[in-house]
Amino acid sequence: MTNKELANIMYPDVSKTIEDYEKMYPKRNLDDKAVVTRFAPSPTGFVHMGSLLAAFVSRKATKDTNGVFYLRIEDTDGKRSVENGIEGIISDLKAFDIKIDEGALSETEEIGEYGPYIQSKRIEIYHTFAKWLVENDYAYPCFCSEEELEEIRTLQEAQKQRIGYYGKYAKYRFVSNEEKAKKIQNGEKFVLRLKSTGDFNKRIVINDLVRGRIEYPENDIDHVLIKSDGVPVYHFAHVVDDHLMHTTHISRGEEWLPSTPLHIELFNKFGFEVPKFCHLGLLMKIDDEGVRRKLSKRKDPEAAVSYYHEKGIPVEAVSLYLMTIANSNFEGWMDANFGKSIDEFKFDYAKMSKSGSLFDVNKLLNISKNYISRLKASDVYDATLNWALDFDKEFYDLLVKYKDYSIAILNIEREQKKPRKDFESYSSIKSYIWYMYDELFTNLNYEWQNITDKDEIKKILNIYLNKYDINDDKDTWFNKMKEVCDELGYASDMKKYKENPNDYKGNVADISNVLRVALTTKAMTPDLYEIMKLLGKEKMEKRFNMV
Ligand code: GLU
Repeated sequence: MTNKELANIMYPDVSKTIEDYEKMYPKRNLDDKAVVTRFAPSPTGFVHMGSLLAAFVSRKATKDTNGVFYLRIEDTDGKRSVENGIEGIISDLKAFDIKIDEGALSETEEIGEYGPYIQSKRIEIYHTFAKWLVENDYAYPCFCSEEELEEIRTLQEAQKQRIGYYGKYAKYRFVSNEEKAKKIQNGEKFVLRLKSTGDFNKRIVINDLVRGRIEYPENDIDHVLIKSDGVPVYHFAHVVDDHLMHTTHISRGEEWLPSTPLHIELFNKFGFEVPKFCHLGLLMKIDDEGVRRKLSKRKDPEAAVSYYHEKGIPVEAVSLYLMTIANSNFEGWMDANFGKSIDEFKFDYAKMSKSGSLFDVNKLLNISKNYISRLKASDVYDATLNWALDFDKEFYDLLVKYKDYSIAILNIEREQKKPRKDFESYSSIKSYIWYMYDELFTNLNYEWQNITDKDEIKKILNIYLNKYDINDDKDTWFNKMKEVCDELGYASDMKKYKENPNDYKGNVADISNVLRVALTTKAMTPDLYEIMKLLGKEKMEKRFNMV
């Protein structure tokens, strides 16, 4: 029986040829240098920061070269796929402003001419390519049971041989087509295996764009390409897809590096051009014990992309940070090109770290602080509102109810040369400004400093309130605090106080502290003059009475 006949028995439903598909997926009309690459996650329900970095650099590389960035959902491993996994990936990309040119938009919609972009919808295509392999003696059906595979392994162990389904151990290489056909006709399940022609004693060179030249032994394992349920494994599916979708750069995690010789063998068997490989290092972190280790999905909350969304860290800050860890020359470029957009920086795979980039969430928060500090108050308001809509209903309602008041609060010490830099995220803002809202001014814990005597505090507050006028300019405002000092035996002049501290009960800083704490409970706040102006005399009086 010829291979062609066997192939027909194995894949009776295949009606197209590889050429038919190649016609349906014509060469892209792009510049020679244009990068076509993809983000190809499995819908596991968890997007790791490392994956986001991969998507980010792929997007960047394609933007830099007028190429194409597409999203391909790799859901052929049913065990790893979770419900709503696809929607999660799509919304994460959206949340981080990583736009796709082509790919899945939801479980049912997509854009682009090279789809379907969800692998489970491409089974017929994989079978067409599989059939071609069988016809050309590059693949065969294997009927080994678990027990038989175990027997092969035991034999290899006994003979001190390399473990695996290869060469003389590849049992179904040596079974006739007739016999295989009979098994299939009897309804026996089979997997499709590659008939490898690689030689383990020869070396294969991979010129990886990130890692440079790497050598591996050639693949000689007859890997499973299609499982017994007809669904392909990653190794096979991605080769077919990257060929038809005209991927120029396979940029993916370094965990795929060891199977690259197999992928190259597959590209070669089909006679397809092999794309460039860019194996990205893992994200690393220095843990509390000072040990450098992988950023772990299990141990590190910051490993999850959802963390940034929940925290309300601006997307722009995350992008800046990702660019910083992607290419270490970016920070210097940014300093030298202040005000320019990331779009003007040229990303280079070769400048990525081979050993994995260090992911330092504090550095990211610092970038975030600087970024937020330069925003206009109304922009901070909008972004905070947006965040609160999803994560803090109480705060959201207050922001809506007191819009102008909230913007004015956010404007304290902002929109100036040296703006305040306390907000590291939109979620942290409430903890800095809560006291400005009566609704939140409950369960108070006053941070009194030098003056703690209640009667003395009351006296200071009363005298001050009588003097306070919201229309005072800053000097007049401050002078009124000094007047309180003079009336109650505190030093209004710091120089005099320092010369003879024992002549006074304290100084003007103690008075302002009492006022600040009475109004906000906090010993440290931004400009008190501004705070009083925003609260107004009525609220001030109310708060003084609460003390
Ligand atoms: N589906 C693979 C994964 O989730 C992607 C590898 C690739 O980008 O080719 O790791």
